[in-house]
Amino acid sequence: MIKILGPCSAESFEQLEKTLLKLDRNDLFAFRAGVWKPRTSPGSFEGYGEEALKWLQKIKIKHDVKVATEVSNKEHIKLALQYDIDVLWIGARTSGNPFLMQEIAEELEGTDKTILVKNPLHPDLSLWLGGIERLQARNIKNVIGIFRGFYSYFPIKYRNEPIWKVLFDFKQKRPDLKIIVDPSHIAGDKNLIEEVCVASMSFDHDGFMIETHFNPNLAMSDASQQVEPKIALKILKNLPTSKNLNNDLLMIREQIDLVDNYLMNSIFKRNELIKKVKEIKEKNKLPIIDNNRFNDLLKERVSSAKELGIDESFVKDLFNLIHKNSIKRQNDD
Ligand code: PEP
Ligand code: MN
Repeated sequence: MIKILGPCSAESFEQLEKTLLKLDRNDLFAFRAGVWKPRTSPGSFEGYGEEALKWLQKIKIKHDVKVATEVSNKEHIKLALQYDIDVLWIGARTSGNPFLMQEIAEELEGTDKTILVKNPLHPDLSLWLGGIERLQARNIKNVIGIFRGFYSYFPIKYRNEPIWKVLFDFKQKRPDLKIIVDPSHIAGDKNLIEEVCVASMSFDHDGFMIETHFNPNLAMSDASQQVEPKIALKILKNLPTSKNLNNDLLMIREQIDLVDNYLMNSIFKRNELIKKVKEIKEKNKLPIIDNNRFNDLLKERVSSAKELGIDESFVKDLFNLIHKNSIKRQNDD
């Protein structure tokens, strides 16, 4: 199993060393640490750049371990190669950009370093594979995918939605490529890392990249999702071994859960809109019940049901129920 562990960001040589010493370096494919952090907002900690590459190189030499960092453009690559970083990963904000992937492929042409490509922010498998193909077209042989989940428009339990079907499809389409799972960026919460790792074991993959910090409370980025080294090791040690649920039913259920989550979010948003309707009606002294509006709405919904091949009487019942709830909310709240 491929294991890549280490902090989200390189914060100091001491932080790197303290973290590494709590891991089993012989069991690591590489020790990770970001030196250029792609942050959502300017002003957040963006990494120590070249200075941090020196710490990583020192770690590599002193402890005889491979080191990994994120690169997003050709300047990053030039510097990372200059400091002899062994493994480079391309982040989710970069892998979905064909121009950057092309630039990176050209800069790395023919390299024998391992290049890890995270999935893009949105679940577009072709775009992800396209980026990988750009690397392979430039004679880069050691390419591995990283599954780190996808941005969700609706609120979900995790930071990024692990649409496992995409991991499954990746393996189906490219059985020749290895792929590892990044539960840290999926979960976004140290208490959910283990369950994401366990869930991933139902699918065929080749290992994990987990963010770990000797003291996560001190972390300068992604503090809430980093675990102490001993926790990361314990999670990896206790993983279930049998791939018992790798079947169609599991993936279909996952999609049903996702759709139900959309339904619940839609109901939540509808309720919020109803609050606004109530305010306007109250201000303008309009009655709560407006039969014309409801009849028009029902006609419209039934006609879309017809187009979609959904049972019309079911849709009628559903919207009568929704309407009842709407009236109740306007009377109660
Ligand atoms: C990271 O691994 O630190 C990182 C920034 O990840 P992602 O590109 O998945 O957001
Ligand atoms: Mn991170």
